[in-house]
Amino acid sequence: MKKVPFEAEVLKQWFLNEARDLPWRNNSTPYAVWISEIMLQQTQVSVVRDYFLRWMSRFPSISDLAAAPLDDVIKAWEGLGYYSRARNIHASARYIVENHAGIFPSTREQLIGLKGLGPYTIGAILSFAFKQKVAAVDGNVIRVLTRYYGIAEDVQKSATLKKIWSIAEEILPEEEPWLVVEGLIELGAIVCKREAQCWACPLISGCSAYREGTQSELPKKGKKIEVTTLFREVFVITHRNSFLVKKGIEGKVMAGLYEFPYIEKGADSAFPFSFRAEKVATLEEVGHSFTRFRVRLFPTRWEAEQKADLEGCTWIDRNELHHYPFSSGHKKILLQIIPVGVID
Ligand code: SF4
Repeated sequence: MKKVPFEAEVLKQWFLNEARDLPWRNNSTPYAVWISEIMLQQTQVSVVRDYFLRWMSRFPSISDLAAAPLDDVIKAWEGLGYYSRARNIHASARYIVENHAGIFPSTREQLIGLKGLGPYTIGAILSFAFKQKVAAVDGNVIRVLTRYYGIAEDVQKSATLKKIWSIAEEILPEEEPWLVVEGLIELGAIVCKREAQCWACPLISGCSAYREGTQSELPKKGKKIEVTTLFREVFVITHRNSFLVKKGIEGKVMAGLYEFPYIEKGADSAFPFSFRAEKVATLEEVGHSFTRFRVRLFPTRWEAEQKADLEGCTWIDRNELHHYPFSSGHKKILLQIIPVGVID
């Protein structure tokens, strides 16, 4: 890699002129930066915008968040997926109130103690909220720096990531370093995308990938993470106006979220529970993904003779259902039965 000087000032100016107007940028308190950064993990800006604004009006401060019941927090997160993030945020808010008098910690050592914060998020909080000279490397920054410096090693390897982090730190100027951190992220998000738009890039004159024509080859990634497909039969069981639902248990991926009872799909599609119910309808197949799984759900609707007991399940009145946070796949099933306008 031939090291070329990094045009930090050019990037800063570009960021000041071109950055998108995002609600968390007008309000870069540590709390707002933290919430927006956690929401932005694996989720598009256009989706996060509304969630963020709703969240801030529902939980305006760390102490409001800490005081809220976990079910309310998960409900506010409903649809964003990766619900452990909401649980971690809630636990961290309580920790900050109990151990830091509700004041957001401002050192790396203290932030490491909070649940669910990785090196990127810690860097982002220290940089954007506390204006410290600290790097934050996410997928956007990796894309820009591997291309700009022509780094052709596998970015899934820790040695490569270490190298990128150290470059990201090295190029930070003394003056307003956070503008370079955020500028790199923004550049990766809107210009140096998968299909690089080099003609609009402020870094074009120093960029190795542009010079060599290797934009589409970088960053290099080794093995793809394997996705497993699961097939599940879902039983939407009602008795008059009540629905039988199950709350995800603590420590499992769907902890705190509600779902209809289901079994892994087999050849035999008879009703698998020990009480009597009559099949009323077959609903539309629904798909969703979480972590490294893709799930195909095959829902059917059943009317039970009585409100029978089923382990881990509870009967909920139809009018109450909208107060409960559902996993995204099961929410899609619920919406087939009770459309948006009726439950929201
Ligand atoms: S010139 Fe092209 S490849 Fe290089 S940083 Fe800019 S957009 Fe990315």
